Amino acid sequence: MLEELKHEVWKANQGLEKHKLVSLTWGNISGLSADRDFMVIKPSGVGYNELKSDDLVVVDMDGQKVEGQLSPSSDTPIHLELYKAFDSLFGVAHTHSVYATMFSQANQSIPCLGTTHAEHFYGDIPVTRMITEEEVDSDYEVNTGKVIVERFEHLDPLKMPAALVVGHGAFTWGKSPDEALFNSVALEDVAKMAFGTFLLRPKGIPFPDYLLRKHFLKKHGPDAYYGQKKTGDKQ
Ligand SMILES: [Zn+2]
Repeated sequence: MLEELKHEVWKANQGLEKHKLVSLTWGNISGLSADRDFMVIKPSGVGYNELKSDDLVVVDMDGQKVEGQLSPSSDTPIHLELYKAFDSLFGVAHTHSVYATMFSQANQSIPCLGTTHAEHFYGDIPVTRMITEEEVDSDYEVNTGKVIVERFEHLDPLKMPAALVVGHGAFTWGKSPDEALFNSVALEDVAKMAFGTFLLRPKGIPFPDYLLRKHFLKKHGPDAYYGQKKTGDKQ
């Protein structure tokens, strides 16, 4: 079942390694079926090189395996919490990519310092609060997902397609597995640039809101004008 989605998720997981966002097996990407009833995710602990499309695991929205020989990623409940809370998402990526994770470990959001950031993320990339001991003991992965969702109470997940989980790493998402990967790549580059900018100028310089708006809306929303028009677009 869901062979096409499995292929998309497989390809996106390969992209994690290609873009040097993961070491060992520290990352995973999932995709959601169009009816939002099933999630396809990377199996736990399998190297990206040896991963085959057929190895991907299909689970229902309760996390029960419906197809696949292997066990799903241990992060499966986190992905499910994000899909349940944000109904515009069809792809979620999780990495411990180095620069984004440094900000997570420092409990520091990534402020918008320039147009590269502004074209992908509409404002500061948020960090979650620390998960409590009770939350870890009761259901660590489900509660990790809930902590991310809590942080987005006043944020639009499509305008801010990334979260830094304090002391852990990054989650990104999008309308497809490939878009989730794309946002992981953007997040890591933006984190790297912010890190270097702070080395050169520890307080940075203020990046004006009007430039943030201009660059975000150039690529997103009804008046976006970046890139090539698709067939059928109004001239
Ligand atoms: Zn992790």
